[in-house]
Amino acid sequence: MSLVVQKYGGTSVANIDKIASVARKVIRTREAGNDVVVVLSAMAGETDRLINMAQKAADEPDAREYDSLISTGEQVTVTLLAIMLNGMGCPAKSFLGFQVRVLTDQAFKKARILQVETTAILDELKKGTVVVVAGFQGVDRENNVTTLGRGGSDTSAVALAAALKADVCDIYTDVDGVYTTDPNICSRARRMDRITYDEMLEMARAGAKVLQPRAVELAKKYNVPVYVKSSFTDEGGTLVTKEERDMEKEVVSGVTYDRDQAKITVVHVPDRPGVAARLFTPLSEHNIVVDMIIQNASIDGHTDLTFTVSRKDIREATRIISEVLKDVGAEKVEVDDNVAKVSIIGVGMISHSGVAAKMFATLAREGINIMMISTSEIKVSCVVEAKYTELAVTVLHDAFELEKES
Ligand code: ADP
Ligand code: ASP
Ligand code: MG
Repeated sequence: MSLVVQKYGGTSVANIDKIASVARKVIRTREAGNDVVVVLSAMAGETDRLINMAQKAADEPDAREYDSLISTGEQVTVTLLAIMLNGMGCPAKSFLGFQVRVLTDQAFKKARILQVETTAILDELKKGTVVVVAGFQGVDRENNVTTLGRGGSDTSAVALAAALKADVCDIYTDVDGVYTTDPNICSRARRMDRITYDEMLEMARAGAKVLQPRAVELAKKYNVPVYVKSSFTDEGGTLVTKEERDMEKEVVSGVTYDRDQAKITVVHVPDRPGVAARLFTPLSEHNIVVDMIIQNASIDGHTDLTFTVSRKDIREATRIISEVLKDVGAEKVEVDDNVAKVSIIGVGMISHSGVAAKMFATLAREGINIMMISTSEIKVSCVVEAKYTELAVTVLHDAFELEKES
């Protein structure tokens, strides 16, 4: 007998009919002799709807109340599935984050899981009950509801799989696996049978929505085998796993894009020691993640400093920078949210030269201007104008011949 954690995303539970087909899939898994823990997202579009309402209610909604509100979509789906399973003769019980006790830190909107208590779930499994857990949510030490960041149900599922020592964590979604790039924007994208945790992590961090980065980090740390599969067909699937010796080290294995980017420029900043710290320390104190940073060459002791943040942080980041602007002697702050980040990823890059140059030349041939560049050992990212996102992804996918099986 195995313990299986199955996570179903928003499109897989988008309406009653789809939840019914999830119920049938769960029953099949249980009848095959497995213990089943199901983790669900909210119905597709529901979290966006709740976020919109919060933003209409106040300019900067109180973070505690915001998290309580946006976590409610998951309460609807887990209870509906449990009701359906029970109605079909399969004993099932739903759990919200605080009922499991998915303990997190207090960083509302992007909380990190500190601990998952397993007693209640294991007791139910022993009785033969299917346990249905609300993804995306947890509770902090003071019993406030917290959420784990967009796409956080993936992380809930992997954290539960790790804590319960499950045999496998299946992530059911609307594509049948992890592709060389988003199959919804590039028809030549190729599904991979396997991908290493490290490559998946870089792809996820660079915007490949199919798994939340934190889910991959946890899977790697606790060695949880993760399968990405389709909710709608039994074909395909991709195993995310540790590197094995026979795995091909591709120079470039994937192309990703991230539209959730905004570029903030602090204009005419005095080029003095300590200025960068005074700009970036308050941002980090407010849990705002700064991704790329560039500083222009200094002219007359002044420079422009440009960095990127997630779009949802624009308002707060601009306010924080505006508050220290006078203090550091900078002139003004400018925001451009009409940008996207396009990245190429591959562990084989470490031992190859010319990869970044080929990326730049490919974009240049299409007349795509590169605004910012950042590189790591296994990734090169460029910020470009948002309207070029699809074109950039497609020409890079072609240039690195990713449609071909190696
Ligand atoms: P869910 O609601 O099931 O969590 P998501 O929308 O979060 O689903 O993630 C699945 C989506 O990820 C796909 O529909 C696809 O458009 C996108 N995606 C981006 N990059 C990739 C990739 N490399 N492979 C597969 N899907 C990708
Ligand atoms: N419902 C949440 C979201 O839309 C969590 C998830 O789908 O994973 O971000
Ligand atoms: Mg998702």
